[in-house]
Amino acid sequence: MCWLKKFGRELVLIGLGGVALSGLFACREPNAIQKETRFIMGTVCTIQIPGPPAVARRAMAGRRAVREAVEKAFARLEECDQKFSVFIPSSPVCRFNQQGIPIDDPEIVALIAQACEVSRLSQGAFDITVYPLVELWGFYSGKPRRPAPEEIAAARGKIGWQHLVITNGQVTKKNAAVQIDLGAIAKGYAVDAAMQVLLQNGIHDALIEAGGDIFALGQRNQKPWKIGIRHPRQPGLLDTLEVSDRAIATSGDYEQFFIADGARYHHIFDPRTGYPATNLMSVTVIGANATLADAWSTALFVLGLEKGMKLVEEGAVRAEVLMLTSQGRALSSPGLKTIPGP
Ligand code: AMP
Ligand code: MG
Repeated sequence: MCWLKKFGRELVLIGLGGVALSGLFACREPNAIQKETRFIMGTVCTIQIPGPPAVARRAMAGRRAVREAVEKAFARLEECDQKFSVFIPSSPVCRFNQQGIPIDDPEIVALIAQACEVSRLSQGAFDITVYPLVELWGFYSGKPRRPAPEEIAAARGKIGWQHLVITNGQVTKKNAAVQIDLGAIAKGYAVDAAMQVLLQNGIHDALIEAGGDIFALGQRNQKPWKIGIRHPRQPGLLDTLEVSDRAIATSGDYEQFFIADGARYHHIFDPRTGYPATNLMSVTVIGANATLADAWSTALFVLGLEKGMKLVEEGAVRAEVLMLTSQGRALSSPGLKTIPGP
């Protein structure tokens, strides 16, 4: 089903699982001079450069320059995957996890430092050392299951961002059992990195998306980008945002989940309990960069409504947020401007 068509051609939808996204990308976009989708980082990534072609041609010396810029941006997304993946055996993250080899790639060290800062501010709700839990619950193997309480207790013993040590440009671990998973922050980082590549190549209007993390660069045909946020349970939209030069990230309990005995178990864990966080259905964060929007959407999802909104009000999270509680109540931060649906 083509959601884009249903809600008007200008609208871009986020907050979707991969399957729904493929429907979105199948839609025709007559004004886009370049729109391409590839499967990178285990998710659907799309780069869209808006038209009309004549304007873009004048500004950027033609379609070939645009194509080359998009190609370089995709190459950057691939490079991020090679660095941050927990699945690629040669990735520094994988080597750190499996063999305890310290990480000294400055880009990865800096990202881990940012992740630890979000851990500190969220009092451990965000924690990249959740790897043992994600593995235990079967979300890496694609065969999720509900573990026994003793297994969860054992996995929790291997978790704690304080076990990571960042000194002299290196990340090491105090506890050999500690393993990291940058899945809650690396996609946002990759989106920021690809956006920088587009800017360096003369492109100032673009939409970059990696599995629900977006950067809306500049404008779409002289107007802000319109981003629709899909309701996690119902057909249609939770809200619509108009944004320019803003990142948008959504974390939800509907991206990867299974149902057992009538209960929903999903892929975002409360590191303090070892179980999926239960307060919210989705959190959308709108901020200046996709790295932090991504990290905070996960962190706030775990923290829940009251604690999460408190951090936003106090300024620890410098972004606007939209939360949907598990009872279906939608609440947003005061600065968030949504536009009426189509
Ligand atoms: P996101 O979709 O950005 O919310 O990221 C979810 C992914 O981050 C999961 O698939 C896990 O790999 C990882 N993750 C799960 N729970 C946490 C957590 N509390 N802190 C950091 N990463 C997490
Ligand atoms: Mg995230």
